[in-house]
Amino acid sequence: MLDRFSAIDISSLIGGEAVKSARTAPVLNPHDGREIARLRLADAAIVERAMKTARAAQSAWALIPAVERGRILHRACNLIEARGDELSALVAKEAGKALAHAKGETGAAVLCGRFFAGEGQRLFGRTMPTGAPNKSAMTVREPCGVAALITAANTPAPNFAWKVFPALICGNAVVLKPSEDTPISADFMARALIEAGVPAGVLNVVQGLGAEVGPLIASHAEVDVVSFTGSTRVGRMIAREAGESLKKVSLELGGKNAMLVCDDADLDKAAQWAAASAFSNAGQRCAAGSRIIVMAGVYDIFREKFVAKAKAMKLGVDDGCDFGPVINERQLSNMLAAVARAEQAGARVLTGGKRADAPGLRDGFYMTPTIIEGAPADAEISCTELFGPIANLYKVSAFDEALALVNNSPYGLTSCIHTKSFDRAIEFSRRASAGVVVVNAGTFGSEPHMPFGGVRSSGNGTREPGTEALDVYTELKDVYFITEPGRL
Ligand code: NAD
Repeated sequence: MLDRFSAIDISSLIGGEAVKSARTAPVLNPHDGREIARLRLADAAIVERAMKTARAAQSAWALIPAVERGRILHRACNLIEARGDELSALVAKEAGKALAHAKGETGAAVLCGRFFAGEGQRLFGRTMPTGAPNKSAMTVREPCGVAALITAANTPAPNFAWKVFPALICGNAVVLKPSEDTPISADFMARALIEAGVPAGVLNVVQGLGAEVGPLIASHAEVDVVSFTGSTRVGRMIAREAGESLKKVSLELGGKNAMLVCDDADLDKAAQWAAASAFSNAGQRCAAGSRIIVMAGVYDIFREKFVAKAKAMKLGVDDGCDFGPVINERQLSNMLAAVARAEQAGARVLTGGKRADAPGLRDGFYMTPTIIEGAPADAEISCTELFGPIANLYKVSAFDEALALVNNSPYGLTSCIHTKSFDRAIEFSRRASAGVVVVNAGTFGSEPHMPFGGVRSSGNGTREPGTEALDVYTELKDVYFITEPGRL
């Protein structure tokens, strides 16, 4: 199966056709830096064509009853599931993951797709009382129109499902721009949806460099809603570009997530969860636990356990490995430079902090699991999302001090506490300023039926997925019926 990668040529997919452009860029396997595909880079003309195609196809799609749209999306999920091994192999290669992890992500994508396919039977509005005796009122959901979806590379299959399925079930036409680092799985999934019956012009994929085509997409006159998953830096740019024409915008951005380990916690369990939170998927999770805050009484013993967990982690993409490489060389260099600056400023690297140089890893974009202590709360490394396997340790003497540190962040996506105290758990869930609070596990993301999102620089207040995603992809219309009892 792997031989076919050398021949992969990925183009934009518009109206069901591959639209080729002359300019190309390599798609690299992050595990060994080898080229696995050529990406044909979309230009302004291709963006234009995708937008026109989506606009032309949208109203007919919206006229198909939502239940029927759901049946088509269920068929697409069945197709993706049936081809799960192939999709997982593509994801493993383009994103640098163990096949077992990629398979887990394929399963998560299918689960998310099925949830939204089912929403075709539940696109509820509300019926409401009115102030007049002869008037009744209700709300109905209508599609926004053309949805521009821009996604990140970290978990490409779920990222696709998280946005494409809710946008489609609501009756929108889609122009998707996947990450240029992971274009192959997006092409594969889009083709499966079209094969399952999504009309070709309703789902279009623009493959290109974010810095080039992203602004054209976010600001395009045909776009009614922009939904973006990615960094806070790019999210701000998109908000500005889309804001000019008052488009609806949903931003799912970064995190610098805190885990609080109390002095009454089960420390083995806490260390296990801290390692999973900080390092799984090479720390490339918006929900990754990168600030581990520990009460003074257990700091030394927790640190020992946590560092031991990090040192025992196996890097690579074979099954049984804990995590793989980060997505590209630029990302790796940024992290190494950030760790070096933190060290220069007086922080101590307890383990890791380097590019992995073991045979079999040194050609890939591997960062060793890194734990840092002694960085002040307002240091660059404490405040900036690095999106890699790097965690900072902080020592605190009391619960209130810990909570203040948890909340002292530009981000507010996920948070977690380890404690046996019911009172502390409840208090933490009330006072942690984040979109997600977890007690006695890891900092993690959402299930498909749960709304996920954060406060401050982690987003702009919307929530996806869950039924709350329907609010992103629909407009509400109030409908009033006025009767005239005199005419009965
Ligand atoms: P990124 O912001 O660099 O890129 C994300 C997407 O935006 C890519 O498709 C990219 O091509 C595109 N893009 C780049 N420049 C653009 C521009 N100027 N205009 C429009 N689009 C542009 O992010 P990344 O490195 O791919 O992903 C990592 C980030 O994503 C992290 O910050 C992470 O926290 C975040 N993320 C958030 C969530 C969430 O649900 N909150 C989930 C996953 C990842």
